[in-house]
Amino acid sequence: MPALSEVIAALDALWPRERAEQWDAVGTVCGDVGNPGARVDRVLFAVDPVQEIADEAVALGTQLLVTHHPLYLRGTTTVAADTFKGRVVHTLIRHGVALHVAHTNADTADPGVSDALAGALDLRVLRPLVPDASDPAGRRGLGRVCEPPRPMRLSELTEWAAARLPVTAQGVRAAGDPDRTIRTIAVCGGSGDGLFDEVRAAGADAYLTADLRHHPASEAREHSPLALLDAAHFATEWPWCEQAAAQLDEVSDRHGWGLRTHVSRTVTDPWTAHAASSDAATPPDRSAYADITTGAPN
Ligand SMILES: [Zn+2]
Repeated sequence: MPALSEVIAALDALWPRERAEQWDAVGTVCGDVGNPGARVDRVLFAVDPVQEIADEAVALGTQLLVTHHPLYLRGTTTVAADTFKGRVVHTLIRHGVALHVAHTNADTADPGVSDALAGALDLRVLRPLVPDASDPAGRRGLGRVCEPPRPMRLSELTEWAAARLPVTAQGVRAAGDPDRTIRTIAVCGGSGDGLFDEVRAAGADAYLTADLRHHPASEAREHSPLALLDAAHFATEWPWCEQAAAQLDEVSDRHGWGLRTHVSRTVTDPWTAHAASSDAATPPDRSAYADITTGAPN
């Protein structure tokens, strides 16, 4: 059974902390790393370090929880157990579970979060959307430019993505001509609405990401015929957990550690319900619409 410090060193080799963004908070959040007696035989991978996941890590008997999202991103002055984050810390420490975060250093890694997303969608990765200047091989970077297994209409690609990503209340929404043929698609796991310029420069027919807000999406649609696909943030990043667990399995096999890795199936997307608009909810005609916009009773 490897020491916790050895497993943490392996995680740091996969996702070096210095490759995280300046504003990010990656690395080990809690854990008795300096103690050679702290050993690891089970590891759980998850997207969010929330209480449900901490409880799952304890129930599985793990000694290490690896999450994509940080627990603390800004300075904190308390880990009191009556705060939700403090409770997570208490739960983990009380049961001897360390927490390690790989966030933006996992986004830009090779393979990274968007490779896992592309893999879940059976897309062929061509190159990073925003290459990492410090990588001469040109494989690291944010987002990926990909090809679908065959050219697909946007409507088909939307169904394709919804059928392959983890189930969430949101599903996948799309913007654009449903009959547009998609030959190149850019993907970015997590919130990707700051990358429209790069997506257009890449010549992609479609862009799949999460958290697309009204104004950036609306402006992107006005600029070009680029089709947009918006999935739940959780759904675009969860595939990384499986990829990351497989990467650690490989390290474990190489060292003969015999680690048992688990990937959480708990959906921690904050949205839990969805109702499609019905025809009855549509303004029946222009006069009714005018009444609504002027606030006059109708
Ligand atoms: Zn994220």
